[in-house]
Amino acid sequence: MQYSNYHSHCIFCDGRSFPENFVQFAIRHHFRAYGFSSHSPLPFETNWNMSKDNMDEYLKEIQRIKEKYAHQLEIYVGLEIDYLDESYNASSAYFQELPLDYRISSIHFLPLLYPLAEANMMCIDGSFHEFSEKVRLYYGQDIRRLVKHYFQSSCKMVERGGFDIVGHMDKVYMNAQHYPGFDLNAPWYQKAFLEFLDLIQEKNLLIEINTKNFRKKKELYPHVDFLSFLVERHIPVLVNSDCHYPDLVNDGRAEAFQLLREKGFRSTYELVKGKWEEIPL
Ligand SMILES: [Zn+2]
Ligand SMILES: [Zn+2]
Repeated sequence: MQYSNYHSHCIFCDGRSFPENFVQFAIRHHFRAYGFSSHSPLPFETNWNMSKDNMDEYLKEIQRIKEKYAHQLEIYVGLEIDYLDESYNASSAYFQELPLDYRISSIHFLPLLYPLAEANMMCIDGSFHEFSEKVRLYYGQDIRRLVKHYFQSSCKMVERGGFDIVGHMDKVYMNAQHYPGFDLNAPWYQKAFLEFLDLIQEKNLLIEINTKNFRKKKELYPHVDFLSFLVERHIPVLVNSDCHYPDLVNDGRAEAFQLLREKGFRSTYELVKGKWEEIPL
């Protein structure tokens, strides 16, 4: 096991500190590699996504600290790119042409109506209040319809490609589990999850084990109960903290590694001199 993290947010999006502060924490805690993955610009402004106007500055600042700390830590620049629909995703020329070391693709929004605007989105990663209002208004209070929509969109994201890592692959359960009618063990849920997982395997993508809520809420993405499906399929994984604060860079990492060993994983993946390598657990 080595120390690394490739999913993190700094002041260029909704992270709460400067990139250098995350790097300094990582160095103090003996990390070998560290990557930034700001929330990609979207066709509309939100409180958490970076603006296209700041892209050059973001790339320049990470390049500056890459050079400054080169003798202490491998630093990488990435993005967490939203999949919205066929027109806006990681495979677009804009994201492909950016000089990034890797790309994470995640779903936070499901378009309900057009044009693409925040008001027309179902946000799966916001407050439960907002979530349940939209399930009522747009999904006829049927949580199954929403979950199905989420996994359908997730499969389209994987078909489209243009990225290395699937971000928090089942984050929909964070809010959905509190809505009446949701059942993680129901065949309809498992079917949707496994269709997505099989497609990820077919396309040879990495899945992150996202520890953002592991210590705080005992929630891991993918869900702890589903990890054995990844083991059976030999899907390559990496552990990411999705931190927004420097002191959470390492949050939940030791616990996640312990769990991965217990579940039968043998290795995780890390960027080593710019190439993904399998590192034994
Ligand atoms: Zn995310
Ligand atoms: Zn994130």
